[in-house]
Amino acid sequence: SELQSKALARVKPSATLAVTAQARALKAAGRDVIGLGAGEPDFDTPDNIKQAAIEAIRRGETKYTDVDGLPELKSAVVAKFARENGLTYAANQIHVAPGGKTVIYNALVATLSPGDEVIVPAPYWVSYPDMVLLAGGEPVRVVGEEADGFKLRPEVLEAAITPRTKWLILNSPSNPTGAAYTAAELEALAGVLRRHPQVWVMTDDMYEHLIYGGLDYVTIAQVAPDLYDRTLTVNGVSKAYAMTGWRIGYAGGPKPLIDLMRKVAGQTTSNPSSISQWAAVEALNGPQDFIAERGKAFEARRDLVVSMLNQATGIRCATPEGAFYVYPSIEGLIGKATPDGTVIDSDDTFASALLDAEGVAVVQGSAFGLSPYFRISYATAEAVLEAACERIQRFCGSLR
Ligand code: PLP
Repeated sequence: SELQSKALARVKPSATLAVTAQARALKAAGRDVIGLGAGEPDFDTPDNIKQAAIEAIRRGETKYTDVDGLPELKSAVVAKFARENGLTYAANQIHVAPGGKTVIYNALVATLSPGDEVIVPAPYWVSYPDMVLLAGGEPVRVVGEEADGFKLRPEVLEAAITPRTKWLILNSPSNPTGAAYTAAELEALAGVLRRHPQVWVMTDDMYEHLIYGGLDYVTIAQVAPDLYDRTLTVNGVSKAYAMTGWRIGYAGGPKPLIDLMRKVAGQTTSNPSSISQWAAVEALNGPQDFIAERGKAFEARRDLVVSMLNQATGIRCATPEGAFYVYPSIEGLIGKATPDGTVIDSDDTFASALLDAEGVAVVQGSAFGLSPYFRISYATAEAVLEAACERIQRFCGSLR
């Protein structure tokens, strides 16, 4: 098409947003649909955070702020990185933008030239490869082993690096697998990166606070301080504080990179909502105890979903360390057919046949760059998850 730019023509629409919209439309049309596609906590934003936003409006904090964040929010982010990650950043090393998504995009737009490569371990969050393409770079997909939750192995990383490699993207705990890296695994990757000084690391720590079984969260700049000068540590309030709609993400990194990201924001979005920024100040500086309480609920849901999915014929589901996703394999169902004769030849067919037969919306693995799998978001009530898993079991049992 002539209307669409060449850059945008390389990009796919977001599959997770599409599934969520499809489930919403079916529900609106009166179908009994359980949507397990959306990547957001079902919990509400805590009240102290909402109050801080209301007070900000009353105080008249309704004007433009510094392009990449209020000084008060940058201070809260500096304190967060020190307190929770043992990372020292100055205020001029912090970037705040409308969501973690924009933070990542700003960094890619700021740094990628045509032909620059970005290593993206699959299965990946749907937006990474497409943001790289839109920014003019080339995503390089690499795959780990199912037995290690598809975590990137040092030898796979080494083989993927070329003189054009600009970034490695890490995401722990992962969307869509829920797998989280240990300090030893990150140290092994750092060992490879030390041999390739042209490669920067973008670590997307958005699910940091959603980690279970008493595991300690670690991020690469903490494990390998010698990589600090080429690491962008990305995080945000969306998932930890149930603030997806507020649109606040942030990152800490070397000042030269942060300066370039500010230049991008200055000519595109300008500042994220001033009101949301004040809410994020309260999120980061206020009480944190609800995070652990909600974590317990997420862990119980994870255990329920993993156990029920493993009881479904043909599904194999590992127990991930964190986030609120599972990424089960449907290898055992490929080639089978539904009672009305649809052959399950891919995870795309599986997801659409499941939605059709049982009204359960999941996202097909092809969207995350690895088939045949699907992703379930378990950020919903246990009773709903139980009903959904019963439907999935019935659907899998009906295949011949
Ligand atoms: N990174 C990962 C891995 C995500 O799953 C998401 C949201 O789905 C984001 C970043 C973006 O977060 P935000 O809503 O703050 O833009």
